[in-house]
Amino acid sequence: MSTQTVAIHLPDGAIREVPVGTTPLEIANSISPRLAAASVVARLIPLTGAAEKTADGDEPTEASMYAAENANAPRLVDLTTPLTADTKLELVTEKDPEALKVVRHSAAHVMATAVLELFPETKLGHGPSTDSGFFYDFYREKPFTPEDLEKIEAKMAEVVARNEPFLHEFVPRDKSLEAFEKDGDFMKTHFVTKFTAVGDDVSFYRNGKFVDFCRGPHLPSTGRVKAVKVTKVAGAYWLGDEKNPQLQRIYGTAFFSKKEMDAHFAQLEEAAKRDHRVLGKQLDLFSIQELAGSGLIFWHPKGAMIRKIMEDWMREECISRGYDLVYTPHVARVNLWQTSGHEGFYAQNMFTPMELDDAMYRMKPMNCPFHILIYKNSPKSYRDLPVRYAELGNVYRYERSGTMHGLLRVRGFTQDDAHIFCMPEQIVDEVVACIEFAKTVLTTFGFKEFKVELSTWDPNDRAHYAGSDENWQLATKGLEHALEREGIPYKTIPGEAAFYGPKIDFKLVDVLGRLWQLSTVQFDFNLPARFEMEYVGEDGARHQPVMVHRALFGSVERFFGVLIEHYAGAFPLWLAPVQIGLVPISERHLGYAVKVESALKAAGFRVEVDARNEKMNSKIRDFANQKTPYILVFGDKEAEAGAISVRTRGKGDQGSIPLDEFIAKAKEIVDSKSIEL
Ligand SMILES: [Zn+2]
Ligand SMILES: [Zn+2]
Repeated sequence: MSTQTVAIHLPDGAIREVPVGTTPLEIANSISPRLAAASVVARLIPLTGAAEKTADGDEPTEASMYAAENANAPRLVDLTTPLTADTKLELVTEKDPEALKVVRHSAAHVMATAVLELFPETKLGHGPSTDSGFFYDFYREKPFTPEDLEKIEAKMAEVVARNEPFLHEFVPRDKSLEAFEKDGDFMKTHFVTKFTAVGDDVSFYRNGKFVDFCRGPHLPSTGRVKAVKVTKVAGAYWLGDEKNPQLQRIYGTAFFSKKEMDAHFAQLEEAAKRDHRVLGKQLDLFSIQELAGSGLIFWHPKGAMIRKIMEDWMREECISRGYDLVYTPHVARVNLWQTSGHEGFYAQNMFTPMELDDAMYRMKPMNCPFHILIYKNSPKSYRDLPVRYAELGNVYRYERSGTMHGLLRVRGFTQDDAHIFCMPEQIVDEVVACIEFAKTVLTTFGFKEFKVELSTWDPNDRAHYAGSDENWQLATKGLEHALEREGIPYKTIPGEAAFYGPKIDFKLVDVLGRLWQLSTVQFDFNLPARFEMEYVGEDGARHQPVMVHRALFGSVERFFGVLIEHYAGAFPLWLAPVQIGLVPISERHLGYAVKVESALKAAGFRVEVDARNEKMNSKIRDFANQKTPYILVFGDKEAEAGAISVRTRGKGDQGSIPLDEFIAKAKEIVDSKSIEL
């Protein structure tokens, strides 16, 4: 009997000829039993055909769970899947970002197993993995109580302990539909009907007595779900229609280890404490007013003080880096937005037009066309370039009501926007300067780590990109050279560019390791052409300038929100709205308080005196709750000596020192913009 073989290409370049039907698990074991034990699933990459991205949206859709896969795309399979064709094979271990999704989806099956064992009348919907865990939709007349969730979690531990293998089975479609219909499993009936075709064998996964319509892949067995937690239950209508039965969606999360799961929940707790909406209220920084509308920010005096410091810093930096400051209106005629193209491609993000007596107007969603009008207001020659216009411009963008989130998602915000108009040969220098500026912004405000992405076009998708091949190459090369000159590691993301040009995005990493997209440097071929911008070159002929959009805070509101969370409201001394709190021990020290206050104010500090007739300790506590960097306490002894007793945030009582000495020390910290205090 001749055995047929298949060629398996391994990542190290080795090619193994193995009998048809060999499994990835067997191959892993032949490499090393440790690798086999560490593998979660396998990735098969076709030897021919373009490597296409696997579907990987934020929101798991039914289609992404059940729809047939693209045979030319890489796909994940069970370790026990028989290999029947030549293929590249990767063993997916914990290090692979896809592996955790497999663990979580397997945990969803474990949850459904537990629910059916405890509440056999329950009907099953679907149970995908999500970015932070997984859920499963159930139909059951009685609501699940918190006690039920505890029971479910305990039962899941039993299912895990039983270490049931996940078995992949195929059942003829009509047979499986018949079974689901007989049991009244209306949701499973729907999914099978919708996502399989007549004559198909339908894919199922079984562990113990539990069977689910599912494409997989899964872990080898339930015992590999090592850390799992049920988190909450919420209502959801079947297929999102309120006329349909109400489902109960139980959420959970799973990790490779208990240690990772504990770290995750500790981080969530820490993030909740840092929530900028909570701190914004507690520290009286900003508010959103129901009467005025959602997504519109009111900056209270303390928040406004921080904003002033941020904006002053930004304007000074712009001026010293050769930018000109401009101010432009908040509204413009619809004609302008037609010229710029916003009416066409951006209208759904704009506030609806308002009719005045002379024309239709719209709030501005971007500042770019305004800066272009200033450029065009007078003729430009090569000697004028580069032209750099900067503005802290208020823009308004339509977001659906109910989607707003504190300072992070709003309808009105302030961009620290700038547009640079230059000659092609100036591109690299200008982009280098933008990158350097962006780095300075991030480090000055205390972010030590950031990640950089270069979004480029997809040359095979010409329909979605404006501009010539030549321009795209010029711009992309310009951005690449600039990043390389600055020695900045970056990740290229093909097909993610804006339609009008490639861009560099800075994602800062905050103290909790969360990524925030803020600074961006973008090329634009579109607007200079639409507005027929030009300059007279050295050759005396007219040329079109190249345009760069760049925002470094991104949005002042959003940057402020990130700052609040990064510092948990304990702003560094140079940013703190009140830098020093004064605590006179009793009323007879109010006279000395005035002296201390005026000396500090003369030195440029932001000071608040607590002159209330309260106990010293409660005054100290109030300043501490406001996260005031310095609290100065004084009584008879200090007044006599011209001294103050210093309490430093995070360090406590530092003892008594002469006032002059304190001022000199604190001034140094402010001037250096230290983030240590
Ligand atoms: Zn499944
Ligand atoms: Zn712009």
